[in-house]
Amino acid sequence: MNKEEIIHINKDEFYDIIKNNENVIIDFYSTECPPCEALAEKYIELSKRYGSKILFTKIFRQENKDLAMSLNVMSSPTLLFYKNGVEIGQRLLGYINKEDILKNIALMGVEIKEDIVSNEKIFDTIIIGSGPAGATASIYASRYNMSNVVIGGEIGGMVAKTHLVDNYPALPNIEGSELSQKLLQHFKKYDQCEHVMDVVKQIEKDDNGIFKIITDGNRHYKGKSLIIALGTEKRKAGIKGESEFSGKGISYCTICDGMFYQDKVVAVLGAGDAALTGALHLSDVSTDVYLIYRKEEFSAKDEALKEEVKKRHNIHLISSSNVLEIQGSNIVEEIILDKEYNGSNKLKIDGLFIEIGTIPNDALLEKLGIEKNDSGFIKIDQNCKTNLEGVYAAGDITTGFSDLKQIVVAEAMGAVSATSAKKYISQKK
Ligand SMILES: Cc1cc2nc3c(=O)[nH]c(=O)nc-3n(C[C@H](O)[C@H](O)[C@H](O)COP(=O)(O)OP(=O)(O)OC[C@H]3O[C@@H](n4cnc5c(N)ncnc54)[C@H](O)[C@@H]3O)c2cc1C
Repeated sequence: MNKEEIIHINKDEFYDIIKNNENVIIDFYSTECPPCEALAEKYIELSKRYGSKILFTKIFRQENKDLAMSLNVMSSPTLLFYKNGVEIGQRLLGYINKEDILKNIALMGVEIKEDIVSNEKIFDTIIIGSGPAGATASIYASRYNMSNVVIGGEIGGMVAKTHLVDNYPALPNIEGSELSQKLLQHFKKYDQCEHVMDVVKQIEKDDNGIFKIITDGNRHYKGKSLIIALGTEKRKAGIKGESEFSGKGISYCTICDGMFYQDKVVAVLGAGDAALTGALHLSDVSTDVYLIYRKEEFSAKDEALKEEVKKRHNIHLISSSNVLEIQGSNIVEEIILDKEYNGSNKLKIDGLFIEIGTIPNDALLEKLGIEKNDSGFIKIDQNCKTNLEGVYAAGDITTGFSDLKQIVVAEAMGAVSATSAKKYISQKK
């Protein structure tokens, strides 16, 4: 076997491919799927490195739905690992770390060889996160003629996972994926900016006050200042069966996985803006959408969104209720409610979307000694300054602007943080 390129296969070729090749990785991907885009670059890199021992393949899910369903693949992307025709290791789905892929590659008996890619340049600022806050910080930094590197796990952050954005000034009714692409094009157009699509796994500071960043892909970067724009991630519900069925009917991203549920019955857990947006998106694709929430009323703030949800004939509201358990054989088949709905506390569904809010991406920050509030959000002052010298923070991960977690607010903080970083490095000169 000597295939160092990724090959695209279809459902008719699948069984022959896994039977006739010792080691095969299958990537089920979809379009309009931010985690699929986040995986793509890592997948190419891995195929170049391990392609002589492993066949790297991709299957476009939308055109191979029957195969996906028969393999219980219900999330994009899903990586499957085969050795001599038998699936091995752990299926990986959603935002996939390179380290987890390498663990499965090791299980195939392939020796892991990863180089460190060290960038000796010292950037004026390192921006972690490529959502609206990070993108805007980069635009302002470049325009201040500061060299900057933006390291982000996914382009556009949460915006890319949003169906429609209607409150972004001057661009009404824009699709989240389009807005995130526009942000990317904007910040990347400056020569002062380098963009790296990778996940930061370590932040250090040396005795000279230089920050050192190490990524999942073993890349090293140095900077005089740091702007943290890590955003938030979806909160898990802690329901019995939730982790067991993750990717097998449980999803946290309606934009990424909604199309798996075309003409099917789904439920959405939550009553905030994100849950209502998700329910609307699903009601365009699925036959029935049950919206399940704990209180009597929606907690969403957007009045127009609430009205639209109530108008949709295929969205059924189940208020004052909780989901106790998720059940099924291989994939989600039904959920158990704490109250009866239409005479039963069992609800037959094909998928459950959990949209119960977000938590800050603060795991990386433990060793840095950055000050956070009780919920893990970074404390900043009006100049986006943290308690640490040379470290600024912007966007949803901060305590800034109270609880208004919105694109324009994140962008404003991005601009302010770059301005503060500029002042800091000018004073240090
Ligand atoms: C369903 C939904 C709908 C929404 N609709 C709207 C709307 O209509 N209008 C509006 O104004 N706002 C909306 N929002 C809110 C808006 O998306 C956020 O306020 C905004 O995206 C916050 O920007 P941010 O840059 O702070 O964080 P994010 O957008 O979350 O970006 C964080 C970035 O950090 C990266 N990252 C995380 N960990 C790491 C790591 N270890 N290494 C490297 N990178 C990392 C991520 O990959 C991402 O690039 C919506 C949110 C959701 C969930």
